[in-house]
Amino acid sequence: MHISVIGTGYVGLVTGACFAEFGLTATCMDTDAKRIGRLEKGDVPFYEPGITELVSKGLKENRLSFTTDIARAVDQALVIFIAVGTPPRPNGSADLSYIEEVGRGIARHLTGYKVIATKSTVPVGTGERLRQVIRAHQTNAVRFDIVSNPEFLREGSAIEDFLRPNRVVIGADSEQAVAIMKDLYRPLYLIETPFVITDIPTSEMIKYASNAFLATKVSFINEIATLCERVGADVVTVAKGMGLDHRIGSKFLHSGPGFGGSCFPKDLAALIQTGHEVGYEMQIARAAATVNEEQRMRMVEKIRTAVEGELKGKTVGILGLAFKPNTNDIRDSPSLPIAERLLEEGASVRVYDPAAMEEATRVLPGMVPCQDAYDVAQDADALILMTEWNQFRNLDLEKLRSILRRPVFIDLRNVYDPAKMVAMGFRYVSVGRQSTGGS
Ligand code: NAD
Repeated sequence: MHISVIGTGYVGLVTGACFAEFGLTATCMDTDAKRIGRLEKGDVPFYEPGITELVSKGLKENRLSFTTDIARAVDQALVIFIAVGTPPRPNGSADLSYIEEVGRGIARHLTGYKVIATKSTVPVGTGERLRQVIRAHQTNAVRFDIVSNPEFLREGSAIEDFLRPNRVVIGADSEQAVAIMKDLYRPLYLIETPFVITDIPTSEMIKYASNAFLATKVSFINEIATLCERVGADVVTVAKGMGLDHRIGSKFLHSGPGFGGSCFPKDLAALIQTGHEVGYEMQIARAAATVNEEQRMRMVEKIRTAVEGELKGKTVGILGLAFKPNTNDIRDSPSLPIAERLLEEGASVRVYDPAAMEEATRVLPGMVPCQDAYDVAQDADALILMTEWNQFRNLDLEKLRSILRRPVFIDLRNVYDPAKMVAMGFRYVSVGRQSTGGS
């Protein structure tokens, strides 16, 4: 079977490459000609473990191809996946202009029956809207079906998540479309992946409800962390004690600088906006977003206290700029607003990230790019662990202490053991635990 994927970002490229891995033939289309030119040579324009190998394999075996021509993408495929961005508008609602543009493009080239499946995260009602857009712009009166097939992959483990998902959600109102979608995902049936087959609005809602729930879990533990600091408890042990309860589970109970990335903040905002549009205040989602905003600024307070009150004239080092490890994605990464505030307050900010240097220093050119963690620490008054890349989990602490101007370690991911850090001579500050060592 032949499929097409419109949009070759984190979701679209992984979708195309993984379906090619399933043995299908996939055409990936993007309007960004530079991106397509690179992909045709097997050069992946973002960092994601395993994707380069999968793209090279697909190209070599002629199951994966790239184009900027939507006509070709539409013509060849039985199923067309839409995986373009749905960024937030200023009021928080999802900007569907890219989706609609794709809808018009598909409509102009429809020559036979197609299944048109949204992988992009889209608000309830988008499937229906897309159907109307396509109908209004069709040049041939052929039949097509709309399917909602939201994507749950996580950047940093996207391939594994796509090839071994917890579930596949298919929203459709046509038996033929459901049968075709199930056929596409047959390799996942073989590994007993649960399938949720439902209507389009329910499928669209499953994606937002899932992301909003996970974001709420993070904000909840961050709120508990703040309380722990004030009452003398340790949030890491609290989270462990909570997470062992199977009804709660241990995932997404790590306190830190707040959630970020291209999905949680925008999807939470879009869900709140959907509630607004239908006259219902999404109180829990709103609280999760507010706590998250405040958490970032609480981190700035922590840093200010750790460097003894005044950031002006101080040098601080930041380890990690991506919103999480194993990606170069800096969209809504907490590192950046925190770094920006430190710069605004007159600090010199030295930074290093294993994958996101180029993107981050373009956005915040005032930061000083460094070669590695030890370079970041040169003459710094404090070192801040912002993103828990593996290479930051086993730092040579002796070496760091000798390089730093002052031995202040601010661990915003609770990676290190407070007692050990004090024994090593650091003033150690973390999240939801007592600050220890030094004055
Ligand atoms: P992205 O920004 O990485 O990629 C979007 C791509 O679409 C870009 O390459 C862009 O050039 C292309 N594009 C835009 N308009 C186009 C058009 N008219 N025709 C063809 N291509 C076009 O986005 P992403 O992170 O892959 O996210 C895509 C969607 O998937 C979003 O709705 C997002 O919310 C959702 N999603 C993302 C993730 C994630 O972890 N990134 C996970 C699940 C769902």
